[in-house]
Amino acid sequence: MSIRRVVVGFSGGVTSAWCAGWALRNFPREEVILLFCDTKEEDPDTYRFLHEMAKALDMPITERSDGRSVTEVARDEGAMPNDQMAFCSRILKQEPANRFLCELQEQGVTEVIRIMGFSGEEPVRMQRHTALCWQQTSFFCNVSVRFPVAEEGVTKQECWDWCSCTMGVQPPEMYSWSDHANCPGCVRGGKNYWMAVKEHRPAVFEQRKAFEAEMGFTIINGCSLAQLEVEGVKRVVGRKEAISIGPCSCGE
Ligand code: SF4
Repeated sequence: MSIRRVVVGFSGGVTSAWCAGWALRNFPREEVILLFCDTKEEDPDTYRFLHEMAKALDMPITERSDGRSVTEVARDEGAMPNDQMAFCSRILKQEPANRFLCELQEQGVTEVIRIMGFSGEEPVRMQRHTALCWQQTSFFCNVSVRFPVAEEGVTKQECWDWCSCTMGVQPPEMYSWSDHANCPGCVRGGKNYWMAVKEHRPAVFEQRKAFEAEMGFTIINGCSLAQLEVEGVKRVVGRKEAISIGPCSCGE
């Protein structure tokens, strides 16, 4: 007997929330799982969004977390994660998700469709996750991946509008200054991003600055946050994928 599960990466962003809605429109509700892997350093408003969206979708959140924060993982590994080596993402998100696939297999699930909220503008991430699923298929049950945002050609703004207007859930406050709703103080950010962290999440900036001093490593290659604070950025770079957070296009 074949048993299928549709596992949506429910990360706290507007695209992953839209994907949850897409999955519920395209697959039987009882097959859909909203999987959240907590990094313990998400923005407080992102947790609010996750819970309100799950309630609006009338779905439970299935949480599988490592239990440690980004900072704790870095301490345990004795290294500072950064853009070239974001092991926090592997340890706190990918590995708990993989363990969850094992759990499903142990429960008799024979097919898993993973749903990711990547857009068509992220071909490298899409390729990497497709390859990861091929790899997973050799260990677990039959695993495939779908990227509905890219498949349907919806924009991040449309995902935003869907959350806000259709579902009545205000998207995370993180979007007012960042392109994504991942951990504030994400180790993948560059200089401009960190200047924005300093402005919008000063406590996070100070924590990461002190953490660099404690670890003896920098997050940005060749420039500590203390140095950046003094020097600033030479040129303010525009966002790659700007998102309007003005009034909703439905006019609500
Ligand atoms: S969002 Fe950034 S800091 Fe948080 S787990 Fe992912 S890579 Fe690490």
